[in-house]
Amino acid sequence: MKYITLLGSTGSIGCNVLNVVKHNLNYFKITALVARKNISLIIKQCLFFKPKYVCMINKKSAKILKNYLSSINSKIIVLSGIDDACNVSVLSNINMVISAMSGIAGLLPTFSALKAGKRILLASKEILVVCGKIFMQELKNNKIQLLPLDSEHSSIFQSLPIKFQKNLGRNNLKDFNISKIIITGSGGPFRKIKKSNLNYITPEQAYNHPNWKMGKKISVDSATMINKGFEYIAARYLFNANDKQIELLIHPQSIIHSMICYNNGHISAQLSYPDMKIYISYAMYYPNSVTSKLRLLDLHNLNKINFESINFNRYPCLKLAIEANNTNQSSVIILNAANEVAVYAFINKLIKFTDIIIINKLVLEKLNFLEPKDVQEVIYIYKIVKRFTKKIIFTKFGK
Ligand code: NDP
Repeated sequence: MKYITLLGSTGSIGCNVLNVVKHNLNYFKITALVARKNISLIIKQCLFFKPKYVCMINKKSAKILKNYLSSINSKIIVLSGIDDACNVSVLSNINMVISAMSGIAGLLPTFSALKAGKRILLASKEILVVCGKIFMQELKNNKIQLLPLDSEHSSIFQSLPIKFQKNLGRNNLKDFNISKIIITGSGGPFRKIKKSNLNYITPEQAYNHPNWKMGKKISVDSATMINKGFEYIAARYLFNANDKQIELLIHPQSIIHSMICYNNGHISAQLSYPDMKIYISYAMYYPNSVTSKLRLLDLHNLNKINFESINFNRYPCLKLAIEANNTNQSSVIILNAANEVAVYAFINKLIKFTDIIIINKLVLEKLNFLEPKDVQEVIYIYKIVKRFTKKIIFTKFGK
C-alpha cells in the first residue's frame, strides 16, 4: 500500500493524481491533502478519499473547512498554513509526497519531505528552477528516488536506462553514451499568430492550449514558452546535463515528448497522446508498470507529425530564461518571481500579454543578488522580487 501526501490537490495535476488513486483504492491511500483555498473542491475530495489530515494554506479557508467537517462529524483533522503542510510531508507512515502546488508555493514542504527521505513525485518544476543545485545536493545526501511528473521530464526519464533512473541527478549522460537529450514543445496557441496581434491576446485565448488542458498559470507560461525555458533549466539539473547536451525543438502535435540521442546514432523517443495521467500513473506505480486504461496511441490514424527549429525572436521569454540560466542562479530566481507576478497581472487583466516580457526584462535589469546559499535565502530573494515587480506594474503598467 502506498500512503500519500498530495501537495496541491485542488489543482489540475492534483485532480489527475486523485483520478489515478480512485482507480486503485486498494493500492493507494491518501493520508494528507494540501490545498490553498478551494473549499468546495477540497470538501468533495475529503468526503471521497477520507484522508487523515487536510491542510489549507489559507487560514480562513481552513477555519471554514473545519467548521463544515465538524458539522458532519467527520474525523478528518484540519490543519493550516505552510508549517503544517511541512508537517504532513514528513509523517512517518507516508512513503510518497506529490509536489504539485503552483510555482514555488510547495518549496518548503517539498524540502521537508526530501530531508525526511520520502520518495518525491515532482510536478512543480519551479522548485528545481529556483534552487536546483541545493535540491539535487539534498537528493544525493539522502539517496532519494525522485520521479518527475512534468511530461517532458517524465518521458526522458522513461527512455533512460534503469541504472540512470535509479540514480537520477547523480549520473552522467556521457557514461551512458548519450550525446544529447531533445525536449519538444508544441509552440503554444500563438505559434502562427501575427506578432503584432499578440498585443490583443486575452487570458482566455492563452488558456486555450492546442494539446494540453492545464492550470491557468502554466497555460500562460506555455503561450510565452517561458515554461519550456523552465523545463530546460530543470532538465539540466535532473539529468546532469550541460548546455550542449540539451536541445529544444518545436513539435506542434505533442506526440513525441522527448528524445534521447546516443553516440552510436540511435535515438529513443517516448510517444503518447498528450495526457498527464500517463506520466502521473507511471511515476505513482514506479518501478512497477501499470496496466493502463488510457487511450493508446493509434499510429494508423495519426496525422502527419513534424518538427521545427525554435525561432527565439517569437519566444523572447524562452530566450530570457536560457540567458538567465547562463548568468547565475539569482537571475533565474528573479525571472521566475517577476514572471509569476506578471502572469497573474495578465490573468487579472491588469497588463497586456506582451507586457509580460517587458516586465520580466525590466526586473532582471534592475535587480541583482548574491547567490543564495540555502532555501531561506531563495525565499527571501523571491519575496523581494515579487514586491518590486508588483510596484513596477502598479506604477508603470496599471490601468
Ligand atoms: P493549478 O493552478 O491548477 O493548481 C495549483 C494548486 O496549488 C492548487 O491546489 C492550489 O490551491 C495550490 N496553490 C495555488 N497557489 C498557492 C499558494 N500560494 N500556496 C499554496 N498553494 C497554492 O496548477 P497546476 O496543477 O496546473 O500546476 C501545478 C504545478 O505543476 C505547477 O508547478 C506547474 O508548473 C506543474 N505542472 C503542471 C502541469 C499541468 O498539466 N497542469 C504539467 C506539468 C507541470 P487552491 O486551488 O486551493 O487555491
